[in-house]
Amino acid sequence: MSGPLAERDAGTEPEVPVAAPATVEVAESRVAQVGTATVRRALPSRPRRTVGPWCFADHFGPVEPSGGGGLVIGPHPHIGLQTVTWLVAGELLHRDSLGSEQLIRPGQLNLMTAGHGVAHAEESTGSGTLHGAQLWIAQPERTRHGPPAFEHHAALPQAALSGGGTATVLVGALARGVASPARRDTDHVGAELDLPGGAVMVPLDPAFEHALMVLSGVVDVAGTTVPPGRLAYLGTGRHEVALSTVAGPVRALLLGGVPFGEALLMWWNFVARDRQEIDRAYRAWADDDRDRFPPVVSRLARLSTRPPPWRQGA
Ligand code: MN
Repeated sequence: MSGPLAERDAGTEPEVPVAAPATVEVAESRVAQVGTATVRRALPSRPRRTVGPWCFADHFGPVEPSGGGGLVIGPHPHIGLQTVTWLVAGELLHRDSLGSEQLIRPGQLNLMTAGHGVAHAEESTGSGTLHGAQLWIAQPERTRHGPPAFEHHAALPQAALSGGGTATVLVGALARGVASPARRDTDHVGAELDLPGGAVMVPLDPAFEHALMVLSGVVDVAGTTVPPGRLAYLGTGRHEVALSTVAGPVRALLLGGVPFGEALLMWWNFVARDRQEIDRAYRAWADDDRDRFPPVVSRLARLSTRPPPWRQGA
């Protein structure tokens, strides 16, 4: 998926301190346009730009592609991040500059690692309802200059939640228990929680900060009501969180990780550390540098953008 990130969300000022464990901080997602689709962007936002290494979270749908609400995103570049594509309904076709061509369906994971540079295109297929999320994970210094990669996981491990419901582990492990086979460059977790109704206790790693993004239904998070379109931030230090359905069933993504220690600069589809890195990636894409961003086999037009704001008029 593609930004562009709004400039007001892309700054590098320090975040507000990690919230105390007793607090649930709820932030409204912003409506953003991705190609022809309208999405709810939960991250980055003020005051939270990251939750662990999770630095971008879009929730799209449910929409009917036949009504013009599908996702059609031509080839575009990424650096310094992993993209996580997760569907609740529908199908998306992924193509990338590594030569990958992968259809993804609900319950499956597409995980693309950009490293020094990758390009991809995504489009919805078929006529059914499309509903899902795309998230970015910032890569740490150790791997962010490395080669790109792509993984598809057709099935993922699940854990039963005490009180009822199921957790599907996309990446990492749920409280160091059930673990996903997906690549992980930092200490983080991503899981889908499916709650048919009632109250559950979800085990958490107290070293992680966590947030909950509701995809459908309305859930009570430790006493705070959270509908779709809001991000509930839980801070660090929790060993578990109590969830109960208010209007269900509830489907939500649990995101967490050790607070990311490196200051990020995010612009368009790039996650970097400073403007010079962004400038180089922008120029490489604008100049069609095929060493850095090899071509994507796609009938869709390559996306482009204006130069970074600090370059305009320069
Ligand atoms: Mn993308």
